Amino acid sequence: MSDRPDDICPRPDFSPLPQGTQPTSPPIHLASVYRCEEPEQARAILAGEQAGYVYSRDGHPNADQLAAKCRELHGAARAAICGSGMSALSAALLALVRQGDHLVVSNQLYGQSAHLLTNEAARLGIESTVVDTCDLSATVAAFRPRTKLVVVETITNPLLRVCDVRALAELAHSKGAKLLVDNTFAGPTVCRPIELGADLVLESLTKFMSGHSDVLLGLLCGREEAFERVPGVIRAWGLTGGPFDCWLALRGLSTLAVRAERACHNALQLAGHLATRKLAAVHYPGLPSHQDHEVARRQFLGQFGTTVTFTLEGGLEAARRFILAAKDIPFCPSLGDVSTTLSHPASTSHRRLPAAKREKLGIFDGTIRLSVGIESIEAIVRSLDEGLAARS
Ligand SMILES: *Cc1c(COP(=O)(O)O)cnc(C)c1O
Repeated sequence: MSDRPDDICPRPDFSPLPQGTQPTSPPIHLASVYRCEEPEQARAILAGEQAGYVYSRDGHPNADQLAAKCRELHGAARAAICGSGMSALSAALLALVRQGDHLVVSNQLYGQSAHLLTNEAARLGIESTVVDTCDLSATVAAFRPRTKLVVVETITNPLLRVCDVRALAELAHSKGAKLLVDNTFAGPTVCRPIELGADLVLESLTKFMSGHSDVLLGLLCGREEAFERVPGVIRAWGLTGGPFDCWLALRGLSTLAVRAERACHNALQLAGHLATRKLAAVHYPGLPSHQDHEVARRQFLGQFGTTVTFTLEGGLEAARRFILAAKDIPFCPSLGDVSTTLSHPASTSHRRLPAAKREKLGIFDGTIRLSVGIESIEAIVRSLDEGLAARS
């Protein structure tokens, strides 16, 4: 046998750490495959009869650790991690409905979610009805005999509408359908939809849950009955998230409670401040003037989220001036970072909506969405006032 160096693939040393030595941070298991001891063990693990790992698309320790934490945060029976919020939505769709079934979909969903649940679903023979789910009687009318799934968001983008999750869950169940709530804009410190009757909860962990704009992941959690097909769908359609992202997200979750407390407090203060300025509109569910404030108070856990939206008079030109002058608030069409960012829905998330339809919802060229961070409130107000001073 040759022992030239290029005949040998160097394998790392797997000897365990010295006894009594415990790392305080979990290891990152980047391995895509695990060594099996013998055929029966491999078979039993792959069949789900025995704990363990074989191939990381089927599951890996970092995803399981993150899923366990999220399950606990939501009081869910089951949880799974997917490679993005959109892949978590795909998993829910593929697990719960089939050709010929029908969806009832909120008219204010995240753009890609709306596209997936209408156009992409239609290609698979799954029809959908888009409706204002804050209007309960309109939602009742949207049901069909084969309605299997209702999809809403806890707090919508960018007008921060809040629908009545408890009432929608009761309605869905009375019709033999399930309720899926996208809780991305709230997170489990603001709202736990499963406690309100939702069957499945989806979150883009990319946003506030991870909190540092350096991860792309999604969460799907829920009740046992709704989850039956989910793990198999994630494996078959290849929707698993990667170990390093899971590790980063779990690290982000360790500060979730303090980040949420600070950012939600900042958002409330900021909304109050904006309400005193000359603006066409200010939206925040924590303000008594918000149309869904009562529902939000009833179903939220004492916080109202980290997003504040307002509309400048003066349309696109005013928005442009504001964005250029508020130079300490980066224009980033995402949300949930530790630092405050802003977005301009008319040119980003809602650019595909015809202006008339967009304005009917209440989203104008002068509408700005703030994702409020954990800086001092004085610093945020200062940056914002710099922008407002330049608007005309
Ligand atoms: C970002 C987002 C998604 C999609 O999540 P990704 O992680 O970007 O795939 C879904 N729903 C809402 C409300 C979002 O904000």
